[in-house]
Amino acid sequence: MPANADLHCHSTTSDGLLAPAVLVERAKANGVDLLALTDHDEIGGLDEAQSAAAALGLNFVTGVEISVSWGDDQTVHIVGLNFDQRHPDLVAGLERVRSGRDARAGLMAEELAKVGIDGAYAGALKYVGNPALISRSHFARYIVERGFAPDVKTVFDHWLAKGKPGYVSHSWAELREAVDWIRAAGGIAVIAHPGRYRLTPAERRALYVAFKDCGGQGIEVVSSSCGDTEIREFAGIAREFGFLASRASDFHGPGESTIDLGRMAPLPADLKPVWADWQ
Ligand code: AMP
Ligand code: MN
Ligand code: MN
Ligand code: MN
Repeated sequence: MPANADLHCHSTTSDGLLAPAVLVERAKANGVDLLALTDHDEIGGLDEAQSAAAALGLNFVTGVEISVSWGDDQTVHIVGLNFDQRHPDLVAGLERVRSGRDARAGLMAEELAKVGIDGAYAGALKYVGNPALISRSHFARYIVERGFAPDVKTVFDHWLAKGKPGYVSHSWAELREAVDWIRAAGGIAVIAHPGRYRLTPAERRALYVAFKDCGGQGIEVVSSSCGDTEIREFAGIAREFGFLASRASDFHGPGESTIDLGRMAPLPADLKPVWADWQ
């Protein structure tokens, strides 16, 4: 059994700061012994990460973090793990989810220009490692570069979070679609960072019920943003719904993420880890 699994992180293939191979080397150096790369809506970094992991003798499984529209203009993230990355349903589904990002970015730039932040589309593109995957993180880095804010978190708080001037609502995958693509490819679907959604308790439960009903099997019980109280809450959800438990740094890069690869609390011992039945 792995002692230090980290099943959620990002590379330059989405909005991370490190190339897949560099990320894998950092995970190894941090003592991670089971890793998944989970770029947003994108699996193009997996081959490089897999080769790097093989060269280092680090256990690696495929991963992705799918953007899902849920309820009344909410976005939730569903992580897929240990799937066949060539499966046509998954490949086509992710391609469709990515395809809306460029137009959304254009609209975001227009909204930001109205509040005095000009040149944001071209500015964000300078930080993009994969033209198919322009994200709010890339805009945030540009806005920091321009001196409007000291760090990306402040940028989100002032401009990019829902309800702020640069936020543009967007239609991502449906929950059932995302879970279906992952399952069709032989993978396990996991609710990412459940503590990060601004949902009422009733909406939160409705998400767990719907996810389970769609065939979702796992939840991140330990994720970067979690304190002890949240770990207890999500462990309780895992027990109640029979979800497998995952462990996630959601690392994006040095200096930007507060929790480094593999540096999270352990899973509560009674839970069944998502990797329990993997070879
Ligand atoms: P997008 O998929 O383009 O909507 O961008 C979502 C990404 O923005 C997330 O995966 C995070 O990397 C980043 N993000 C969202 N909210 C925040 C926040 N409050 N502080 C820092 N980064 C954030
Ligand atoms: Mn991200
Ligand atoms: Mn996420
Ligand atoms: Mn993530």
